[in-house]
Amino acid sequence: MTKAERIKNSLQKTKERRKTQRPVVFEIKLQNLSRRKAETLKKAFLEAKWLYNWLVSDLERLKLPANKVDTVEVKVGDVFEERQLVVLGSQIKQEIADRLKDNLRALAKLKQNGHKVGRVKPKKFVNSIPLKQYGVTYSLDFARNRVRIQKLGSFRVLGLHQIPPDAEIANAVLVSKPSGYYIHVTAYLSTTSANSSCKLGKDIGVDFGVDSKLTLSSGIKMDFELYETPRIKKLQKKIAKTKKGSRNRSKLRHLLRREYEKLVRRRKDVQNKVLAFLRQYRTVVFQEDCVKGWTALFGRQVHASGIGGLKSRLRNSLEVPVSVDRYEPTTQECFACRKKHKLSLSDRVIKCDCGWTCDRDLNAALVILRKGLGLSPDQAVGPDRPELTPPEREDAARILGSNPYIRVSFLQ
Ligand SMILES: [Zn+2]
Repeated sequence: MTKAERIKNSLQKTKERRKTQRPVVFEIKLQNLSRRKAETLKKAFLEAKWLYNWLVSDLERLKLPANKVDTVEVKVGDVFEERQLVVLGSQIKQEIADRLKDNLRALAKLKQNGHKVGRVKPKKFVNSIPLKQYGVTYSLDFARNRVRIQKLGSFRVLGLHQIPPDAEIANAVLVSKPSGYYIHVTAYLSTTSANSSCKLGKDIGVDFGVDSKLTLSSGIKMDFELYETPRIKKLQKKIAKTKKGSRNRSKLRHLLRREYEKLVRRRKDVQNKVLAFLRQYRTVVFQEDCVKGWTALFGRQVHASGIGGLKSRLRNSLEVPVSVDRYEPTTQECFACRKKHKLSLSDRVIKCDCGWTCDRDLNAALVILRKGLGLSPDQAVGPDRPELTPPEREDAARILGSNPYIRVSFLQ
């Protein structure tokens, strides 16, 4: 077999394997950094910026083998100065160039489809460095809790225990955040092992309300408080009073970035807890349009932080997500007899001539569940509302109760 054939073969095999796997991103923190190591990392991000901007300022340079580039010109004021790339590994340099190429290709495609796209611009900060090949650009030492990154050295890390032993480790990204340095490791877990986590053995409908509320068809209501903290507002006010370009301003801005990072973390944790809880059910039914509500609720930053869109997250992490068409009326319909009602936003309870009286969001969650499973009202639950079982209550308290920003209440 030639080399090209071998590569094609292994790609084919990977593709087959991925069908029974789901990607999960693990965040690992680099810790106990010595001053020298912290300097090296800082330098790496600086060099990554230099290389990126050097490539962007003349795209012809992408034709050169990026792994061989070791001097770049950097614009300092109005003049160009030469800089040596000393801490970036050759593979990493290649990956920075490849990532830029990918972005350009994506932009060209958008343009082709009639979207308005701008030019790729130089960056003020680069805060992520791709580490594509596990075993080459980086490797993990689980026994000693260390990560080794090509040319940058070995670092003590926190969080490797999150990665299950049977995970297939793929690429990673070295990330610089206000709170420190991290690597985001993508690993593939087999979906068959995820199936065993369904404990409750029942199906659930989810209604995504406005103003960050979520109602399950079993009668569990969740509320989230994920607003900007008073400290964020205070810092913003302070920054407005400082002089542009001053030291004080940049110091305050760093503090503000840290505060935002905390908020993103909080949101992500809420999301994780909710998904972990929903995973206890056999089938989760939600209304298609409402996934948008999730994005609004958890914000765009979550997307940018590398865990991917929430929609795909919901689909990937739940075993059997079922969705109901966005145009299906769900809030207006009586769950028991399907009669349509005109409800105004202030009507919290739906009251039907058939005798059905129910909290409006719970009714919607029940209708979503019934429609998603394609059942008639009596097939769905019998004459009564489905019971909230003690294990459900326990799980809700255990999983959701551990997060201070989720308020759980039971409707029964
Ligand atoms: Zn009715």
